[in-house]
Amino acid sequence: MLRQVADGVLIHQSEFCQSNAVVVRGRAGALLIDAGIYGYEMACLANDLSESGQTVAAGFSTHPHWDHVLWHAGLGAAPRYGTARCAANVRDQLSGAGWKARIAEWIPPDIAEQISWDLFGLINGLPAETARIAWDGPQVRIIEHQAHAPGHAALLIEERGVLVVGDMLSDVLIPMLDLDDTADPIEDYLAALRLLEGVAGDVDVLVPGHGSIARADQVHARIDQDRAYVHALRDAGVAADPRVGPSAKDGWEWVASVHAGQLQRLARRSERDGTPG
Ligand SMILES: [Zn+2]
Repeated sequence: MLRQVADGVLIHQSEFCQSNAVVVRGRAGALLIDAGIYGYEMACLANDLSESGQTVAAGFSTHPHWDHVLWHAGLGAAPRYGTARCAANVRDQLSGAGWKARIAEWIPPDIAEQISWDLFGLINGLPAETARIAWDGPQVRIIEHQAHAPGHAALLIEERGVLVVGDMLSDVLIPMLDLDDTADPIEDYLAALRLLEGVAGDVDVLVPGHGSIARADQVHARIDQDRAYVHALRDAGVAADPRVGPSAKDGWEWVASVHAGQLQRLARRSERDGTPG
């Protein structure tokens, strides 16, 4: 089930939306990024790790959406990290009466019913200026930006040439902007793409939160494709994007409705603000 994508870096892809969990081998256990979706998949992952003599030394969530903050008891009780903003956002989601039902509304029922809710979203926020994850393994640089969700972070495993990008630079998902928490979601997203472009030269393997990995020669194409999409959104134009419409991969036809929804919400925003575009 685990597939090696670089020396000491393995991914496990879920049946749900091609979600990629990433295992980085360390000296005393692994770093597990965005642990997985279905309970049975994470249990299997835990099993594979223990069979190869590894335990989980630390977890990391790239952002505070439900499909990136799940955990399974079999993975153990290692500290789980995220950016300070990510952790604060999850904490908000988990507060107040009825939080479980509110979150479950976003989750397909077959997944929601097997979630270990007492382990859901237990993220320790790293102080805002934290540059690297403190753990006994290859250096992992945190590249935080405002784009898809509050406190969204990409991780660059420098010695392995691997960039884990959360819900950006996917071959199946269009850029999904954070239209709730930011004043200028378009410009924020473009700035985040510039930030990722700045490290693209160091990347041999790019691992998106959902979809296929990209090799070094495809990284710039992924960035350009996302930028073109965001430009099209900004200009309220038709996105000539292979991820939207008839060319979308099987099972990803719903992305077209995400696109339509974003166009609509941005149009409403600019009406409200009285600004064009
Ligand atoms: Zn997300």
